[in-house]
Amino acid sequence: MTEQHVYPVPEALKQKAAIDADTYQSLYRQSVEQPDAFWAAQAETFLDWQEKWHTVCKSDLRKGEVAWFLGGKLNVSVNCIDRHLEARGDQTAIIWEGDDPSEDQLITYRELHEEVCRLANVLRERGVKKGDRVCLYMPMIPEACYAMLACARIGAVHSVVFGGFSPDALKDRIQNADCQVVITADEGVRGGRKIPLKTNTDKALAECPDVHTCLVVKRTAGDIQWEDSRDVWYRDAVEAASPECEPEWMDSEDPLFILYTSGSTGKPKGVLHTTGGYLLQAAMTHKYVFDQQEGDVYWCTADVGWVTGHSYIVYGPLANGATTLVFEGVPTYPDAARCWEVVDKHGVNSFYTAPTAVRALMGAGDDFVKRTSRKSLRILGSVGEPINPEAWEWYYKVVGDERCPIMDTWWQTETGAHMMTPLPGATDLKPGSCTKPFFGVQPVLLDSEGNEIEGAGEGSLAIKASWPSQLRTVYGDHQRCIDTYYSTYPGYYFTGDGARRDEDGYFWITGRVDDVLNVSGHRMGTAEVESALVLHEQVAEAAVVGYPHDIKGQGIYAYVTPMTGVEPSDELKKELISLCVKEIGAIAKPDIIQWAPGLPKTRSGKIMRRILRKIAANELDSLGDTSTLADPAVVDDLIDNRANR
Ligand code: ATP
Ligand code: MG
Repeated sequence: MTEQHVYPVPEALKQKAAIDADTYQSLYRQSVEQPDAFWAAQAETFLDWQEKWHTVCKSDLRKGEVAWFLGGKLNVSVNCIDRHLEARGDQTAIIWEGDDPSEDQLITYRELHEEVCRLANVLRERGVKKGDRVCLYMPMIPEACYAMLACARIGAVHSVVFGGFSPDALKDRIQNADCQVVITADEGVRGGRKIPLKTNTDKALAECPDVHTCLVVKRTAGDIQWEDSRDVWYRDAVEAASPECEPEWMDSEDPLFILYTSGSTGKPKGVLHTTGGYLLQAAMTHKYVFDQQEGDVYWCTADVGWVTGHSYIVYGPLANGATTLVFEGVPTYPDAARCWEVVDKHGVNSFYTAPTAVRALMGAGDDFVKRTSRKSLRILGSVGEPINPEAWEWYYKVVGDERCPIMDTWWQTETGAHMMTPLPGATDLKPGSCTKPFFGVQPVLLDSEGNEIEGAGEGSLAIKASWPSQLRTVYGDHQRCIDTYYSTYPGYYFTGDGARRDEDGYFWITGRVDDVLNVSGHRMGTAEVESALVLHEQVAEAAVVGYPHDIKGQGIYAYVTPMTGVEPSDELKKELISLCVKEIGAIAKPDIIQWAPGLPKTRSGKIMRRILRKIAANELDSLGDTSTLADPAVVDDLIDNRANR
C-alpha cells in the first residue's frame, strides 16, 4: 500500500484528555496483568451499586461461560438517571432533533426520570415482571429511550427491533424472544417520508397471539387501525401513572436486553447482554473514547435499533450524565448539510457515525460541509465497517478541519462496547486502522491451525480473555452461541473478522473471514482491494468478493459504483485495474468489474458481501437470508447485469 500517513495526537488533547499515551500504556498493562483489580476499580468509579459483588469475573471461554461482578446488585436506570438528579437534575439529558429541521425538544434529567418512572409503572400495571421480554419497534423519538430505560427499571428485557424492518422480520423477532408487550408509534418519519409502524405491527401481531398489550406513541396522528382489547395510547397510559417508581434491584448477571445482529453474514442472532458488565464497559468507553467532558454535547447518529444506539446513544452517555442527541432523520435530508447544521445548532462536541454515511456525504461534495461552521466539534468517530482511508481523510480534513481526531471503533453487537479504538489523547492515528485494544481487551491473530501469530502478520481475529460487556448467550439457542463464537478456536472468542497487525502493533480489519480472498494462494482482505478502488476520484463505493477461477482458485470480482454523473467506461475499468496493481500489487488485479448503481446493504448500512459472492458465483438460488436487506431491488439489478464468464 501507499506510504501510510500518521496523524499524531493534537497537542491540545495531549494535555487535556483524561488518558495520555503513557497512562494508556500503564493502565493497559495493568488491565491485562491484573484484570480483577483493574475492573473492580473501574466498577467502583463508573457505577453505583446497591450491593457490592463478591467475585469480579468467572469465565471459561472453552465452554462459552462468562460472568462479571457476581453477587453485585444494581439498576441500570438508577445509574443512568436517579444518581444524576441531585447534581444535574436541570441539565439536558436528551436533545431531540426531529426529521423536520424546525422540530426539536430538550429533556432534562428530571424530566427523563419522570417519563421513565411513569412508563415503568404502566408496564408493571400491565403485568410485566422482571425477566419478561418487551419488544420496542420505534422511531427515533425520546419515547424510544424512555422505553428502554423503563424496561431496565423494572427488570424487563427489551428487544429493540429497528423501525425499518418489515412486518415479517418484526414477527420473527417477537416470536423468537417470546415478547408479550410491544411498544411502537403510529408512524415514524424519516427523510420526509412516513413509515407505517403501527400498520406493520398489526400485521406482525396477527401471528403473535401472546402479545396482550401494544402501547402506541402518537407521532404523526396518521390514520391507523385500533384493536381495543390490545392497543393503548402511550400518552394516556403514562399520564395516568405515578411519576415515582421503585427500581428492581438486579443481579449483575440478570439480562438487560436482547438485540439481533445486522444479518451481514447470515440469519440474525439474538444476542443477550446482562446488567453490570455491559453498563460498565459502555460507560467507560463512552467516557474515554470520546473524551467526554462536563457539559459536552455528544451525538451518535446510529438508530437505537442497533447496538451502537444502545451503548452510545442511551446507556453509555446517560450513565456518564452526558447530554446525548437523538436524531429522528437521515444525514441527507433536507440535504447533505443536515448533520453539520445540527452540529452548529446544538453545539455538538463529539460526532459518531458510520462509514456508509461518510461515503454518502463525501459523494455529495464539499460545499454542503463548507457552508457550516462545525467549530464546536472536537472528536469524530466511525463504526460499522472498515473506513476506507480515502473516506477517512475526507472526514478528517473537510468535516473536522484537520482539528478533530477520528476514533475508528471496532466492535460488534456481541462485544457490547468498543474493543479496539484509538483514545483521543493517547493514540496517533493511521487512516483505516482501528489502532489498539481498549483496556482489558486481548485481541490475537490466529493462523489456519489456530496458532497465535506474534508480531506483524495477518489472520483470524479472536479475543483471548473475557471482557465485561461480552455476550452471554444467543437467546434461546446457547448451542448456536457456542458453535458460532467458541468452537472454531477452542479457548478463544472468535470474532468472524480477519485482521492484520502492522509493525507498530496497529490493527487493521481486513473484512469478514468468510470474505477473505485467496488468489493463487495469496490471502487478501476485501477491505484492501476496495480501498484501492475508491481512491479513484470517479468511484463512490466498491465491494469486492472472490469467485471460483479455474487457474487462480479464486478470482477477484469487483462491484463498483461510480460517482453521480460519471459514465462507466472501459477506460475507467483499465484505470481501476492499474490502481489496484499500483496500490497493492499485480495479485490484486480485479478479474471482473461490474458497474453497480447500488450495492446490497443491511438496514444498518453494511455491504452484504455474501450476496455479492453468490451473484459472482452464479449461485442465484441460494442467496441465503435476505430479510435484513435494505433494498431488494438492488440485488435484482445486479443479477440482471452480472458479467458473462
Ligand atoms: P451478522 O453478525 O448478523 O452477520 P454484523 O456482523 O454486520 O451482522 P454487527 O454486530 O452490527 O452485525 O457488526 C459487527 C461487525 O461490523 C464486525 O464484526 C465488523 O465486521 C464490522 N465492524 C464494526 N466496526 C468496525 C470498524 N471500526 N472497522 C472495521 N469493521 C467494523
Ligand atoms: Mg457479526
